[in-house]
Amino acid sequence: MVELDDLLAQVWPLAASNTPGTDTVNLNAALGRVVVGDVFSQLNVPQHDNSGMDGYAVRCADLAKGVQFAVSQRVPAGASPLPLQAGTVTRIFTGAPIPPGADAVVMQEDASVLANGLVTFNAVPTPNQWIRRAGEDIACGQVVVPKGTVLDAIHVGLLASIGVDRVDVVKRLKVGVMVTGSELQNPGKALEPGQIYNSNEFVWSGFLKAMNIDVESVGIVPDNLEATCSALERLAECDAVVSSGGVSVGEEDHVKPAIERMGELRAWKVAMKPGKPIAFGHINRSDGGQSWFFGLPGNPVSSALAFQLIVKPFLGLLQGQSMGQVDWRLRMHPVKADFAWAKPDMCREEFLRVDVQSGCAGLFPNQSSGVLTSLAQSSGLVRLAKGQVVAPGDVLNYVSYQDLMK
Ligand code: AMP
Ligand code: MG
Repeated sequence: MVELDDLLAQVWPLAASNTPGTDTVNLNAALGRVVVGDVFSQLNVPQHDNSGMDGYAVRCADLAKGVQFAVSQRVPAGASPLPLQAGTVTRIFTGAPIPPGADAVVMQEDASVLANGLVTFNAVPTPNQWIRRAGEDIACGQVVVPKGTVLDAIHVGLLASIGVDRVDVVKRLKVGVMVTGSELQNPGKALEPGQIYNSNEFVWSGFLKAMNIDVESVGIVPDNLEATCSALERLAECDAVVSSGGVSVGEEDHVKPAIERMGELRAWKVAMKPGKPIAFGHINRSDGGQSWFFGLPGNPVSSALAFQLIVKPFLGLLQGQSMGQVDWRLRMHPVKADFAWAKPDMCREEFLRVDVQSGCAGLFPNQSSGVLTSLAQSSGLVRLAKGQVVAPGDVLNYVSYQDLMK
């Protein structure tokens, strides 16, 4: 049995050094993709000093309260102003370039237009007032989106704001999914006696789609060695394969021998609860390549958490994200226990489902690894060392699902 931290130290670096190739995509296809290199700006944003208000561009030194000024030009957004004539003001609108020679904008609410067309001001501006300086948002040469960023709507907008219409991103990953278990039935079909519905496949597909990863599923695989091997063979062309169930040592568990036949088992059994039976290795392809393999337990909670704690960061690294982005341990923070945990596991560390309100963690009443509602009705996990008991008031290490599933 391997400790979770040791497994992560063994497995995650393999992904970081094996990222796939590059795609160049249009901005409208860039959402959720991971950029392969720093994106620099070739220009200043804004390009020119411009007005932050509708009003008048002025030279502060000219202005005194009550003095009447002629309006020498009108500059809407998109126009090119002439230099400001001494002793006059420029009518200007939000976003319009500041005329050379002007050093402030007075908003129109502080100006009065007289019957003779001249303008007076009832406030004396300070230099720079309501001027948005060239480059104050983005300076030419600045990194706008760093390497490894998972592009969200704001990032895509930032790229648009510097005129970039295509961006280099990591090739889309394809992950194979198989769920083993002769007792499984798919939703939409009636359950025969002894059957249960297959939920793991849907949980994982959701996680994978949220990561912008293509999912190739062979669906339910009955509990026999030949069917398990042939499912692995069909999925071997994927970048990685995740399978659920059948990974213990019972007579109906065929994942371990199948992976030993089809590739290599590199780690097996992790000292964590929920989720001990976990396998990691690879499947050999007929062309000499390999596909990463994760065999996760069938219990829905174990399968979802093992995916989040081990597999998702691995896939994030494979996608070109950095260790700092994917390592959920860096996002843990202390919370106060509002419960007691008197019978710890002496051989495995434990992740307890808790609900944190105002920094206090309440224990979800049913910690069974089969109770999927526990993941919907709690807010995150506290991580306990093996043998750790908890008394109310103890400070525990917590990660929210939101941070875990980022
Ligand atoms: P196993 O890891 O194969 O021993 O399965 C452990 C438990 O998880 C059993 O109660 C299975 O019925 C259940 N299980 C296995 N696969 C799935 C699945 N795809 N969806 C929901 N439950 C499952
Ligand atoms: Mg099974």
